[in-house]
Amino acid sequence: KSGAKLYTREESKVTFNDVAGLEEAKQDLREIVDFLREPGKFQRIGGKVPRGILLVGPPGTGKTLMARAVAGEAGVPFFSISASQFIEMFVGVGASRVRDLFTNAKKNAPSIIFIDELDAVGRSRGTGLGGGSDEREQTLNQLLSEMDGFEPHSEVIVLAATNRPDVLDTALQRPGRFDRQVVVDRPDWRARMEILKVHTRHVPLADDVDFEVLARGTPGMCGADLESLVNEAALIAAREDAERVTMKHLEDAKDRVLMGAERKLMLTE
Ligand code: ATP
Repeated sequence: KSGAKLYTREESKVTFNDVAGLEEAKQDLREIVDFLREPGKFQRIGGKVPRGILLVGPPGTGKTLMARAVAGEAGVPFFSISASQFIEMFVGVGASRVRDLFTNAKKNAPSIIFIDELDAVGRSRGTGLGGGSDEREQTLNQLLSEMDGFEPHSEVIVLAATNRPDVLDTALQRPGRFDRQVVVDRPDWRARMEILKVHTRHVPLADDVDFEVLARGTPGMCGADLESLVNEAALIAAREDAERVTMKHLEDAKDRVLMGAERKLMLTE
């Protein structure tokens, strides 16, 4: 990984159609899309648009995907960084990276900033066990001051993802900062079925494939798991020179993904 890369800028092609389930979250975020499409309209009416939104949910449930979809729907540039990247390199660069990121997003407004793993910099201050915590606090302070420094009519929306909203510094959630939460939860079986459909859009499927059975048989799996299940099934089918992916391929792939998850658990325990 290149340490020189501060953040990435992309023109997102992802839309809400690529995000399965999560209807409530989409509903909440549609307002942001409307604002970014036509900021002037909202300002004329005097509507107050949120500045920062926290996407909260477990890993692999589509927070990053959702943020990209907001940018794609609105047709605005997407600036993203993982908060752990803010602080991983050299002491003293975290704060300047934050500054740089915000400057660029403002230059390209309307735009979206996405900060993944916000908790990496956003943990409550004063609880660090030494070693690098000063660096983290400086970075967090810079982030807070950037959030406060927006002009009232600024057309930059900051989305941030976390799976630990409970450890975030309360200062981050004050009005004008990340004062709104959108929940991106683990999928239920219906949502899992939708996710499987999204990820098999371009996969030739045999007639025996039953998404409901698969979805009901994958409790606990998140979107990322289901995406690897589909990829795995396609690999198995290819290895057999099969022309289509069958239910058996998908079931075998499910077992592999489950086995992989168990292995990961064993390794971390
Ligand atoms: P992390 O907290 O680990 O960063 P995340 O919540 O940001 O996870 P994503 O990176 O958005 O999760 O999800 C990983 C991949 O899983 C996505 O690129 C997508 O392919 C798939 N995925 C996850 N959730 C969904 C969903 N609701 N619909 C469609 N695909 C999904």
